[in-house]
Amino acid sequence: MNVLVLNCGSSTIKFQLIATDLERIAQNTDRRLARGTIERIGGEAIITLVMAGREAQRLTAPLRDARAAVEWIIRWACSETSGITEVQSVADVQAVGHRVVHGGERFTHSVLITDEVLRGIEECIDLAPLHNPANIKGIVAAREVFGVGLPQAAVFDTAFHQTLPDHAYLYAIPYQFYRRHRIRRYGFHGTSHRYVAYRYRQLRSIEREQTNIITLHLGNGCSIAAIRAGDSVDTSMGLTPLEGLVMGTRSGDIDPAIIDFIAVKEGLTAEAVESLLNKQSGLIGISGLTNDMRELLAEAHENDDRRARLAIEIFCYRARKYIGAYLAGVGGADAVVFTGGIGENAAEVRARICAGLEWLGLELDPERNEAQIHGREGLITRDGARLAAYVIPTDEELLIARDTVRCVTGAPQRY
Ligand code: ADP
Repeated sequence: MNVLVLNCGSSTIKFQLIATDLERIAQNTDRRLARGTIERIGGEAIITLVMAGREAQRLTAPLRDARAAVEWIIRWACSETSGITEVQSVADVQAVGHRVVHGGERFTHSVLITDEVLRGIEECIDLAPLHNPANIKGIVAAREVFGVGLPQAAVFDTAFHQTLPDHAYLYAIPYQFYRRHRIRRYGFHGTSHRYVAYRYRQLRSIEREQTNIITLHLGNGCSIAAIRAGDSVDTSMGLTPLEGLVMGTRSGDIDPAIIDFIAVKEGLTAEAVESLLNKQSGLIGISGLTNDMRELLAEAHENDDRRARLAIEIFCYRARKYIGAYLAGVGGADAVVFTGGIGENAAEVRARICAGLEWLGLELDPERNEAQIHGREGLITRDGARLAAYVIPTDEELLIARDTVRCVTGAPQRY
C-alpha cells in the first residue's frame, strides 16, 4: 500500500510517500519513496524534494492553497521526473495519513477520517487554534484531490498521552476550569515518544508491557515522557506545547506570575507576553544569538560565548531535573532514550544532561555516546549500567503511515 503522509501547517506542507503494509510492518521493510517540503503556500511556493539515493532538489511553483499543493505533489509523484516507479497515477496512492496536532480527550488513538471525526477535530480548534485549522484544510484538500472514497487517517500528537492518570494531567487550579473548559495537561510529540518506545522494545526484544522508560524528544520543540508498561504516564508539555523543557524559542516552565509582571513592567498585553514566551525565549532568549543548538555549541567552543554556554547549561539542567522527577514520580525506569535533532546528534548535550546521574546507575560510555550520531541507534551507557541510555532516531512519518495501514485494514492500534 502506498501511503501519502501529510503534515500540514498554515503555509507549509511536509509530505512523504511510504510503501508499507502489515507484512512490511512486521518485517520492518517499509520503503520511503520520496519526501519533501512545500513552504510559502499562498504565493510562489518553495518546494524541496528528496528522493532515495539522489541529491535534494529545490524549485518554485505558484501554489495558492493546500489543495493546489496536494495536487502538485501527486502530479509530481506520477511524473517521470520523480523517478517513483511505484506511483504512476492517482490510483497508486491507496491512503493518506495526516498528522493532527490536537485530539483533545476524544481521540485516544489514530482513526479513519469520517465527517464525524472531522467535526471532532474542529471541536479541538479551541485547544490548538494555530494548528488544527491547517490540519483540517489538509484533510479537505486531500478529499478534493483524491475523492471521498480514498481512506484517510488522522494521527494525533496528543493521543499517546491520553493514558496519563488524573493526578498527572490535572493542574492544581480550581477544578471547575477542567470541567468547564477541559484545561488539563494533554502533552504533544506523542507520535515520536510512541515510535521510540516501540523501537526500544524491538531493540531489547521485550514486550510492550515490559517497556519502562523515559523518552526525551529534543528538537526545536522539546518534551519528555515517562512510559510505564508501554503507556505514557507523564509528559512535560501541557495544555499547549509551551510547558516543560527549555526549547529553541520557548521558555518551558516558568512561574506563571511572571506573565503579568512582564506585562506591567513592559506595557505589553498578555498575548504579547505569551508570544514572547513562545517565540523569543528558550535557547534564543538566553543566548541572544540563535535557537539552533548546533550553532550554540559552536559559539560556546569557538568563541567561548558566555551566554551560549549558559543557554546550553540551563537546557541540560532542566532536562536532567525532569529525568529525576519522572524516575521518582513513576517508580524508576530501565532506560532513558534520546531522540529529535538534538537528542540524536548532540553527544555533548547528552553527556551534559547525564552528568552527575552516575549515582542513579546511569554511567555513559563516552565512546558509545560519541559514536551515536547521524541517525544511528544504540546503547550509549556502559555494559551493566543500572539505568541504561539509548539514542533512537525518531520517525513520526513512518508511524503515521503504519497507523494509516492499521486503520485501513482494521488491525489493532495498540501494539
Ligand atoms: P524539529 O523539532 O523542527 O523537527 P529537529 O528535530 O530537526 O527539529 O531538531 C532541530 C535541532 O537539532 C536544532 O537545534 C539543531 O541545531 C539540532 N541539531 C541538529 N543536528 C545537530 C548536531 N549535529 N549537533 C547539535 N545539534 C544538532
